Amino acid sequence: SKSREKGGCTAFEAKMDAHYLDRQKLKTDLREAVETGGLSVAYQPMFLADGSRIECCEALARWTHCERGPVPPDVFIQLAEEMGVVSEITRFMLRQACLDCLKWPGHMAVSVNLSVLDLRNSEIVSIVTDVLSETGLDPSRLHLEVTESCLMEEAAKVQTILQELRGRGITIAIDDFGTGYSSLSYLDALPLDIIKIDRSFVRNIREDARRFKLLRGTVNLSRELGLKIVIEGVETKDQLALINEFKCADLVQGYVFAAPMPSAGIISLSDTLLKK
Ligand code: C2E
Ligand code: CA
Ligand code: CA
Ligand code: CA
Repeated sequence: SKSREKGGCTAFEAKMDAHYLDRQKLKTDLREAVETGGLSVAYQPMFLADGSRIECCEALARWTHCERGPVPPDVFIQLAEEMGVVSEITRFMLRQACLDCLKWPGHMAVSVNLSVLDLRNSEIVSIVTDVLSETGLDPSRLHLEVTESCLMEEAAKVQTILQELRGRGITIAIDDFGTGYSSLSYLDALPLDIIKIDRSFVRNIREDARRFKLLRGTVNLSRELGLKIVIEGVETKDQLALINEFKCADLVQGYVFAAPMPSAGIISLSDTLLKK
């Protein structure tokens, strides 16, 4: 039994080791990808709720590892945060998003995700303004998405940074609303323009009446506060119909309309819509 225990233990350690090495290897490879232009950007449209027009596209980071294939962004963004290179990814995303947005119809904006770490450093203001002046994109066409977790920490500092960005004509959205320890008081205290309601509010709206009431309550309050409402993760025609019946959204983002795609796909999709 002693040897079995030992065997089990060794196997366990080997497994832990492999996991650890795997993360280390992934980090090394991610660093190289960041340095050599190995990341790319996919865009997911946000539509007017009737589907007639694209108003904005969210920029989503993509990394295809040479051996493992696509690595989910929540995984590699966390690695990048641990490695201290997330601001380089943010800078790359901002730059590419602005350049691509310039090729889209002029009414369309692009929305870029910020990490919690980006908002701990006031350097983000000059990173964003430098990218805007280098690319020539009008600030009114840039949206920035911040999550609730960003807002919990060092609230005063974050508030100042967001105010500075907003003062330059950039639109600020609160992302994944309703997933964290969300407090409705953030909606009032922070300089926000848009609320993106998380897809967990949408999933069972037909079956879960209480959840749907929560969604409608959040929507009504957000409207009172003058925020624009985006509902994320809308997957079915049935969910969309319910959202439209109760006028819950200004904009809808989700597979029901379109999945993330390359910038060229956004151009042809908006062409098709404009011809209709
Ligand atoms: P997110 O910001 O909430 O982005 C929306 C995610 O929902 C995307 O996943 C998108 O592909 C997915 N999605 C869109 N429509 C639907 C739908 O109808 N149903 C479902 N189930 N999912 C839908 P993705 O691209 O895998 O990104 C995951 C997360 O990674 C993002 O969540 C965001 O938190 C993070 N992320 C992605 N790109 C960046 C980036 O450039 N910077 C930072 N800081 N984070 C990023
Ligand atoms: Ca987002
Ligand atoms: Ca605005
Ligand atoms: Ca989101």
